Amino acid sequence: MPDAAVAPSPQAAQPALLAGSGLPDFAAISPEQVRQHIPELLESLEAELIALEAQLQHTLDSEEPLAWDTVMDPLQRLEERLRWSWGVVSHLNGVCNSPELREAHASQQAAVVAFGNRSGQSRVLYQVLRRLQKQGGLDGTQQRILTAELRAMELRGVGLEGEKQEAFNAASQELAELSTRFGNQVLDATNAWTLLLRDPADVAGLPESMRQLLAEAARQAGEEEASAEAGPWLLGLDFPRYGPFLQYSERRDLRERLYRAFVSRASGAGEGGDNGPLIERILTLRQEQAARLGYSHWAALSLASKMAESEQQVETLLEELRAAAHPAAQRELQELRDCAAAAGAPEAAELQPWDVSFWAERLRRQRFGLDSEALRPWFPLPRVLDGLFALCDRLFGVRIEAADGEAPIWHRDVRFFRVCDGSDGRPLAAFYLDPYSRPGSKRGGAWMDECLVRHRAADGNPVLPVAYLICNQSPPVGESPSLMTFQEVETLFHEFGHGLHHMLTTVERPQAAGINNVEWDAVELPSQFMENWCYDRATLLGMARHWQSGEPLPEHEFAKLLAARTFMAGAATLRQVHFALTDLRLHSQWRPELGITPEQLRRQIARTTTVLDPLPEDAMLCSFSHIFAGGYSAGYYSYKWAEVLSADAFGAFEEVGLENEEAIRATGRRFRDTVLSEGGSRHPTEVFTSFRGRAPSSEALIRHSGLVAAS
Ligand SMILES: [Zn+2]
Repeated sequence: MPDAAVAPSPQAAQPALLAGSGLPDFAAISPEQVRQHIPELLESLEAELIALEAQLQHTLDSEEPLAWDTVMDPLQRLEERLRWSWGVVSHLNGVCNSPELREAHASQQAAVVAFGNRSGQSRVLYQVLRRLQKQGGLDGTQQRILTAELRAMELRGVGLEGEKQEAFNAASQELAELSTRFGNQVLDATNAWTLLLRDPADVAGLPESMRQLLAEAARQAGEEEASAEAGPWLLGLDFPRYGPFLQYSERRDLRERLYRAFVSRASGAGEGGDNGPLIERILTLRQEQAARLGYSHWAALSLASKMAESEQQVETLLEELRAAAHPAAQRELQELRDCAAAAGAPEAAELQPWDVSFWAERLRRQRFGLDSEALRPWFPLPRVLDGLFALCDRLFGVRIEAADGEAPIWHRDVRFFRVCDGSDGRPLAAFYLDPYSRPGSKRGGAWMDECLVRHRAADGNPVLPVAYLICNQSPPVGESPSLMTFQEVETLFHEFGHGLHHMLTTVERPQAAGINNVEWDAVELPSQFMENWCYDRATLLGMARHWQSGEPLPEHEFAKLLAARTFMAGAATLRQVHFALTDLRLHSQWRPELGITPEQLRRQIARTTTVLDPLPEDAMLCSFSHIFAGGYSAGYYSYKWAEVLSADAFGAFEEVGLENEEAIRATGRRFRDTVLSEGGSRHPTEVFTSFRGRAPSSEALIRHSGLVAAS
C-alpha cells in the first residue's frame, strides 16, 4: 500500500496541475492545462503575496516581534505551490516533450521567472527578513536559510537606494542582454562554418557511426543522396562532429583546418559577430556591480555564496593541482610524440594541438584495447541496479525495493522504488527511475530532480522526499535487457548520488533539506563520490555478470578499466586548471586600466597551465560561454573543487581498507549521518569536517588521477 505521504493527492476537484502536493498525476496534465492553470496559479500567488506583504508591513510598523512561523512558513508554502506545479511542467517538458507542451512551457516561463523576481525584490520582505535576523533566537538551520535568502535578495539589488539602484538595474539589464548576445554569437559562429567532404580519402579513419553522422548532416543541408559509405559528408564545429573528427581523422590537414576554425569562433576572424568587445564590457560591468554591492570584485561576490572562502583559497587549490598535473602533461605529450614516431608519422617531432586527440586515441587503443561496446553484455540494467542497491544497503543501511504500480508514471518504461531504513523498515523516501533514451521526446543527458521535498505538511504530517532520476541509456532490444556501457553505469551511480543526497536528508525545513541551500561548489560531492565505487573491486566484480552466461567480468578487463581511468589525466587536469584560473583572475584581477586585454591575461596564465602554446588566432575566451553566457562566472573552479571533496571522502573508505567490511559499514553510516543527512542546514566545510575529521585535502584526487603531488 502506498503510504499517505507520497500517495496521489486526494483532492479530485482540483485540476491535476494545481494539486500542489503528493505525487503528480502525470497523465492528467495536458499542454492546455499548462496554458490555463499556470496563469491562474500565478495570479492567486500574487494576490497572496500582496496580502502577506501588507500583513508584514503592519507588523513592521507596529514594531511587534516577528516570528519565523508567520514569515518564513507562509512564504515557503507559497513558493512550494509554484515549485510543485511548475516543477511538474518542467519535468514533463524534459521527459515527454511534444511541440504543444514545449510551446505551452515556453509561453509561461517568463511569467514564472517574473514572479520569482517579484518576491526576490520585495522591499517589505527584505526588511522583515533583516529584522527577523536581528531579533535573534534562531537555530543554526534557520540562520543559514535566512542568511542565504537575504544574500540572494541583496545580489538582486534590493538593499540599494535611489540612483545607485537605478544604475544597478540598468547594468543588470545590460548584462543580461550581453550574455544572450554572447551565447548567440557563439552558436552562430559554430553553425556558420561547414566543410563538405566529397572524397572518400577525406574521411579516412572515421568510424562508421561518425560517417553516418556526417552524411546525415549533409542530407539535412540539401545533399539528398548523401550516404555514410559514398558521401558527401558535412563537417562542422558542433561537439559531436568536432570532437570525434579530431580523435579519429587520419587527414592531418583537415584536422588542422577544423581546429583553427574551432578556436577562433566568434573572434571576428570568421563569419558572425566578434565577442571580444563584449568580454571587456561584461567584465567591466560586473566589476561595477560588485562595487555597488560592497564587494572588492566579481569573484568575491561569486564566492560569497559558495563553500570556498576566498579567491586565495581557490588559487591555492588550483596551484596544487597545476603543480601535480603539469609535469604529467609534459610526459604524456612526449608519449604521444613517441607513439607518432613509432608509427613513422612526420609530425612526431612537432606535434600540434590538432594532433593531440588523434595520437591519444591511437595510444589508448594500443595500450588498453578497450572497446566500450564489447563490455555491454556484462552490465545489464537489472544486475547493475541490484549491485547499486546492495552497495547502498552496505554503506548506508538502506533497503531499496521496487514498488511499480504504486505510483502514477509518465511512460511505461518508468520504474518506481521505495527506500526504507534497513534496521527498522521505516520508510524514508521514494524515487522514479526513467532509464532509457527516447529520441524526439526526451531531453538528452542525465539528471536528478526533486519531485517532493522533505517537509512537514500544514497538517503536521511528515512528507517524505521523492526524486526523479533520469538517464538516457540504451533501451532493451528484443529479448535482451538494457545492456549498459561502463560510462552509462558511472552516470547512473552519479545521478543516484544526487538522489541519495535528496532522499536521505533528515532536515525538516525544506529550504535546507537535501540539495537545497547547499553551496554550489559542494553539491557534486555525493554524486562524484558514488562514481568512485564503480572502480571498487568488490562493487564492480559483484555486479558485472554476463547477462546470458552469468560469467563475471574477466579480471583483465577490470584491470584495463582501472588503467584507462588515469590515461592522459595530466592533460585533462591541466586543461580544467587553465579554464578555472583564467575565469577566476579575469573576475578578480582584470581591469581596463591594467593595459592588457583579457586575452593577453589568459596567455600569461597559459604559460604555466598549458604544454602547447595557444596559436596566435586561438581566442578561447570568445567562445567561453560557461562564464560569459552561463552561470559559471568566477565559479568554473567548482568542477575541481567538488572533485577534491568527493575523492577525499572516498579516501576515508580507502584508509579503513576497502576489504574491511565492518569499518566500511561504519564509515558509510557516518557519511549518511553527515553529508547525506545534513543537506544545506550547515556550512559544507563543517559537514565535510564532521565526516572526515579534518578539512578537505587534494591528496586523494591527485592520487586517483594517477598524478603525484608536488612537494
Ligand atoms: Zn551531477
